[in-house]
Amino acid sequence: MRDIDFYAQILGIDHPWHVDDVKLQTEAGRVDVWIDHEPGALWACPECGRELACRDHAEERTWRHLDTCQFKTFLHARIPRVNCPDHGVRQAQVPWAAPHSRFTLLMERMAIDVISACSTIEGARKLLRISWDETWGIMERAVKRGLSRKEQRKIHYLGVDEKAFRKGHKYMTVVCDLMRGTVEHVAEDRRTASLEAYYQSLSSEQLEAVRAVSMDMWQPYFSATMKWIPEASRKIVFDRFHVMQHVGKAVDTVRRQEHKALMAEGESTLKGTRYLWLYGESRLPDKHKPRFDDLKQANLKTAKAWAMKESLQDLWGYMSPGWAKRFLERWCGWATRSRITPMKKVAQTLRAHMDNVVTFCRHRITNAVAEGLNSKIMAIKRRACGYRNKEHFKTAIYFFCGGLDLYPACKTGATH
Ligand SMILES: [Zn+2]
Repeated sequence: MRDIDFYAQILGIDHPWHVDDVKLQTEAGRVDVWIDHEPGALWACPECGRELACRDHAEERTWRHLDTCQFKTFLHARIPRVNCPDHGVRQAQVPWAAPHSRFTLLMERMAIDVISACSTIEGARKLLRISWDETWGIMERAVKRGLSRKEQRKIHYLGVDEKAFRKGHKYMTVVCDLMRGTVEHVAEDRRTASLEAYYQSLSSEQLEAVRAVSMDMWQPYFSATMKWIPEASRKIVFDRFHVMQHVGKAVDTVRRQEHKALMAEGESTLKGTRYLWLYGESRLPDKHKPRFDDLKQANLKTAKAWAMKESLQDLWGYMSPGWAKRFLERWCGWATRSRITPMKKVAQTLRAHMDNVVTFCRHRITNAVAEGLNSKIMAIKRRACGYRNKEHFKTAIYFFCGGLDLYPACKTGATH
């Protein structure tokens, strides 16, 4: 078989296109394939589809295709232009590539698979033998395609979370579908406007379909949700893991303060105990049990605070918000009377947000899915090692966590 026929077949090049020439450069490790079309062929205007004769050609363009064995393979062609009475001079569409892409559709599909499977973007880039910018170009196009194809689905349970972009102060707001475990929206900052931008993108049917929104006790998210979701006061659920995290932090503050005070008196009772107080009673490893039992017996503020945290776990077992509220009121009373300042403070916070803490009993949702996604996002951050900008970070989140249909529609050649 002649190389021209061989390439026509493996590229799936069809009438009116044909392979005109093939050049193999062994030294350079590349194959170049020129594609041309029959002179009298008609071309569709990309706007209206009207069939028109070729007016002239655009400059020759080059597309990177799947490798032929290990040879980098490039297609070359001059794209015909038509003069549409309604739309003016336009380039016809070629069946092997999307407009503006420097890769063929098959190469883009392959690249999407490789990027998805690789543990680092740099690794994917090396395997594909494309540049860093080309890799991001493929990912950006894939995400854009995926987002534009996205149906206006109704999402019943939303999770809103903040994500630190860089150590310190840069935050992103991530909205996810708790049932599908997909990221629906990524916005800069963690302000009211960050979340509002998402709600604004929803139809009124979609806003009404939201049954509950899980979030941390964060006023900007609360305000945005109150403004946009009908009957939001019954639907906002302050996430139980975040609630327990706040209480856990209070316990840790108590420990730090008490440890400092004890050390001043030459007592090292609390030295090296930080992690012991982070465990729940049931999850404490056996090897720590004897020491921890001693600590609990000692008359420590830290032990009291820890016991409060343990007892708060019972809150999540209630099935009725009314009963949960009575329990939480008692708990807050206990914490307030304890005269342990960090516990009093956290009780104040919980009291102020009580109605939307106990909504958990009605909806029983948590950001646990979102937290899972968060660790996925952390991994994305690590494996991209060095996002030059926030846009790249956003693109990567949508690419890996958006549940999007990323592939270009394949019109030519073997599909997979
Ligand atoms: Zn037209």
